[in-house]
Amino acid sequence: MIDKPTNGLTWLSLAVSLLTIPAAFADAPAQAKADCAVAEFTMGLRFQQQSAEIQALQLQAYNIATLKLDAAVAAAKDPAKLAIVTDLDETVIDNSALLARDLANCHTYDAWDTWLPWERAGTPTLIPGAKKFLEHADSLGVTIRYVSDRADEQKSYTVATLSKLGLPQVSAESVLLLGPPKVERRAIVSADHQIVLLLGDTLHDFDGRFRKTPLAEQRATVAAEADKWGADWIVFPNAGYGTWSNAPLKAWKAETVIEPW
Ligand SMILES: [Mg+2]
Repeated sequence: MIDKPTNGLTWLSLAVSLLTIPAAFADAPAQAKADCAVAEFTMGLRFQQQSAEIQALQLQAYNIATLKLDAAVAAAKDPAKLAIVTDLDETVIDNSALLARDLANCHTYDAWDTWLPWERAGTPTLIPGAKKFLEHADSLGVTIRYVSDRADEQKSYTVATLSKLGLPQVSAESVLLLGPPKVERRAIVSADHQIVLLLGDTLHDFDGRFRKTPLAEQRATVAAEADKWGADWIVFPNAGYGTWSNAPLKAWKAETVIEPW
């Protein structure tokens, strides 16, 4: 998930939504119609959850990560000093079932007011290739740090979820949640490790310059850092949500000509 409101606001909005549930049920059709802007996300979410292409892209990303990690370990004097930092949501674990449920209910899922119950009771699945890659890193003696904007107040639930999925090196120490911005949590890791790979689906998983930055600046920074993609930075596809989700589309400025073929 991305750029959540502060935890205080999140809890407040949760409380408000609980208080307003009876009113919502009383006027369900009108409420659904008003909220159904989220239906715009259907195609993206379908691609994210159902396409074989996403599965292939995820495996491709983890295959590249494995090659890069093996090279870093081969070049290192002490692999124990190396660390990889990975995001969780839509990088290691797949939360699309929550988004699909909310979309089916015409509930705008990127307001993130259904997220905290999902952290506590949800059942995310593994992104293809994630467990194999992390187990490989673990077998090489490389330190793994899970840096996520999940709620630190609910850390025990996230740790339990990751443990249940059988991921390696899961502990209160290895899971760094929101909290300070990710750039500060990465600095905690690099204080006593050399970070050799960053993995994520959102650009601020890689660099603080992407955080809360307009799309044009994000694109300029992506281009300026062209050599890092697939090298130090392993990016994963996420068509379900992102800072781009409401960006206007650019269209071909030509009259529509319909011609059978
Ligand atoms: Mg993520």
